[in-house]
Amino acid sequence: MAKKDYKKLCKKMKGMKNIKWDNNNIFPIVHENKSGPYVSNKLINRAGLVAIKILEDEKDTIEKAFNNFAKKKYNGQSYNIKFYFEDSVERIKNASIIHPEGDVLGYNDYATIRVCNLKFSSEELIALLLHESLHYLCTINDNGIGEKFEHQVMNSLGDY
Ligand SMILES: [Zn+2]
Repeated sequence: MAKKDYKKLCKKMKGMKNIKWDNNNIFPIVHENKSGPYVSNKLINRAGLVAIKILEDEKDTIEKAFNNFAKKKYNGQSYNIKFYFEDSVERIKNASIIHPEGDVLGYNDYATIRVCNLKFSSEELIALLLHESLHYLCTINDNGIGEKFEHQVMNSLGDY
């Protein structure tokens, strides 16, 4: 059973007291019609603290979700799965703001997460950082598993 101390952390943080999670989801519930302020480094740092705590507390849940998909994909064959949580945490810590391009809210490469300078509610920002941090977290047989596969795993963890 995961510790879920990130829920306690939110209760102590400004503007995050009402963030809720459904059952076993690691992604917070995002309300479509709830807006927030324009993103700032300060807001990214605060949401990042929560996202990092989620990665720590839900490590087992996350590994299990990737493993479940790997088992299906490799149906009976053996595979070598590895996780790089420290790199994901680093990417959240180094997240930076950029001007939006097209209709994306944020994106990432192996090194950095970029958040578009748009309005986000606290839960949206946490979900975005968590989403981007889960890309490249896992390798199977030393290869990335691909965006499509990663999104399927994230959906199973409650991403929208
Ligand atoms: Zn994505």
